[in-house]
Amino acid sequence: MEKYILALDQGTTSSRCIIFDHAGTVKSMAQKEIKQIYPRPGWVEHDPMEIWSSQLAVAAEALAQAGLNFSAIKAIGITNQRETAIVWDKLTGKPIHNAIVWQCRRTADKVEELKELGLTDYIRERTGLIPDAYFSATKIAWLLDNVKGARERAAAGELLFGTVDSWLVFKLTGGKKHLTDFTNASRTMIFDIHRLCWDEKLLGIHNIPRTMLPKVCPSGYYFGDTDPAILGGKIPIAGIAGDQQAALFGQCCFNKGEVKNTYGTGCFLLMNTGNEAVKSSHGLITTIAATVSTVATIGPVLPQYAIEGSVFVAGDAIKWLRDGMRLLSSAAESQEYAEKVSDTEGCYLVPAFTGLGAPYWNPYARGILVGITHGFSKEHFIRAALESIAYQTVDVLKAMEEDAGVAINSLRVDGGASANDFLMQFQADILNAETHRPECIETTALGAAYLAGLTTGFWSDTGEILKNWRLNRSFTPEIDETRRKELLAGWEKALGCALYAAR
Ligand code: ADP
Repeated sequence: MEKYILALDQGTTSSRCIIFDHAGTVKSMAQKEIKQIYPRPGWVEHDPMEIWSSQLAVAAEALAQAGLNFSAIKAIGITNQRETAIVWDKLTGKPIHNAIVWQCRRTADKVEELKELGLTDYIRERTGLIPDAYFSATKIAWLLDNVKGARERAAAGELLFGTVDSWLVFKLTGGKKHLTDFTNASRTMIFDIHRLCWDEKLLGIHNIPRTMLPKVCPSGYYFGDTDPAILGGKIPIAGIAGDQQAALFGQCCFNKGEVKNTYGTGCFLLMNTGNEAVKSSHGLITTIAATVSTVATIGPVLPQYAIEGSVFVAGDAIKWLRDGMRLLSSAAESQEYAEKVSDTEGCYLVPAFTGLGAPYWNPYARGILVGITHGFSKEHFIRAALESIAYQTVDVLKAMEEDAGVAINSLRVDGGASANDFLMQFQADILNAETHRPECIETTALGAAYLAGLTTGFWSDTGEILKNWRLNRSFTPEIDETRRKELLAGWEKALGCALYAAR
């Protein structure tokens, strides 16, 4: 009796495994932190063997906790930190170096060179991305350039590259499969998101041999079986998606115009744009959304696309109030303080601690607190910090609305800070749209599970999955248009100050 789907969620700070039942309810969960390696300021690495062993350990632990063995698992879905690059030996399965993590800035200069070569438009056109060191391309080239003999070995076909999903599939299948999915490929900055193939010109620019790249498949797809020695028996791997795309899927944003926002350290906003790859004129990224290839799919798969924008500092501002300013004993406490006052008395915090992302794009902007008068208190400060998360979100959503030509009338939310009722209410107020918080906020793992379950017939179609999306709470706008305009105008002014200070 195969009653469950096992989701592997390989994140930046930890490896997790969640087992879901047919109702999308969590049966068991295990988590293990992974070591962050900082060889130099701005450089971030992970040990690929630790990524693999921790992922395997949590899978075994989640199975044991639930009292299940492999035969109860219908399929495995994988979701992962995106863009992180791993290169390994095809025969021995040994990595040639640590994984270079998405956050790592070591190739920032290389990206500047690409821009100077006039490649920005080409990269945007083909890959949907704005050239940046976050994406895998320059990380792969760095590994080939800096590990002794790597270029020669790569040219001789001895090395393989993969994002974390690809590495896990290779390990899970006992070295038999070298595959990835469209969502992960779309973050490498060498993948043509329109033609759905690796881009020869970009491969040439980075001198990356075609032979080291994985085959790219739809997110819901039969990727292969686990090696029986690994989890006690063969289990099909049937779903893969990068974390944010998995969350979009886990939130059941299957249709054009549907949007989710994950409120974590930062905010990650994705809007499904259907079969159209929308080009942003506001600095948002165009990316591939997760889709399932079914038996009924004849001919080339039509992917769904998404536009993506992120806010660098969101929940992190609350963490700063707690750890840096020592104004809070827990992040959750922020709600109670914010609700003690009826507004911020015209004060605004712009938490541009690391510059400002979409749609402002100014790396030199810095945090600023404006509008202080005698009445300003701790409560106002905390409230202003929470409100800043909602304002930044509105700015990204407005950019999405303009780019996609779709009006946003509701927002699905998840992530740690989405638990804050004050923030969710203020978000609805200032956006003038409903916010919907699901019961299960493990949407990333759930999205991977849905992909694997749909591919293997565990769930028959997305309609059946939609029934699993259970509402925890909705928040409806409660302020009038005049007040909304007034608040937004104040935020605009504050942003202006943060940008002025950046000059
Ligand atoms: P990540 O996955 O980025 O580590 P999480 O989804 O776990 O983030 O969310 C943690 C972040 O959310 C932290 O920055 C924390 O300060 C913030 N946070 C957590 N709970 C709350 C809350 N109730 N209210 C406001 N912020 C919160």
